[in-house]
Amino acid sequence: MQHQENIDFEHILEDAGIRVTAVRLLVLKAIYTQMNGAFSLHDIVGVLPTVDNSTAFRALSLFAEKSLLHPIDDGSGMQKYCLCRCADHEHCRGHVHITCTMCHQTICMTDVPIPSVPIPDGYEIHESEYVIKGLCPKCSKKAR
Ligand SMILES: [Zn+2]
Ligand SMILES: [Zn+2]
Ligand SMILES: [Zn+2]
Repeated sequence: MQHQENIDFEHILEDAGIRVTAVRLLVLKAIYTQMNGAFSLHDIVGVLPTVDNSTAFRALSLFAEKSLLHPIDDGSGMQKYCLCRCADHEHCRGHVHITCTMCHQTICMTDVPIPSVPIPDGYEIHESEYVIKGLCPKCSKKAR
């Protein structure tokens, strides 16, 4: 998590080619300052009582489309996202995630890029995901 005073959110949106609106700024701010690791639409509307589901959903989809967010399918049945913190969003390969199958918390291993694998001829890759499943330290204690 970062302190929002140091971040120019309008600049981040403009840089990504996204038109700045009040709602988009609110959602982006919430992502930077209130989300830890991977988050869902539910988490965002939970901290933004003035923003309805469909508005928040559209903002998240747009951010993901413009590569500000990485979409993650962690098997929880909920679409999750995390912040792309690298300078070159467009060429970012993404990073590895670990998800807990008990509490469904997913954390970002931002320092571990998704390994590159040999791709068969003729394929054009749009995105890849690497999710490791297991139990988080808290849940593995409970499971013992
Ligand atoms: Zn990234
Ligand atoms: Zn857990
Ligand atoms: Zn992540």
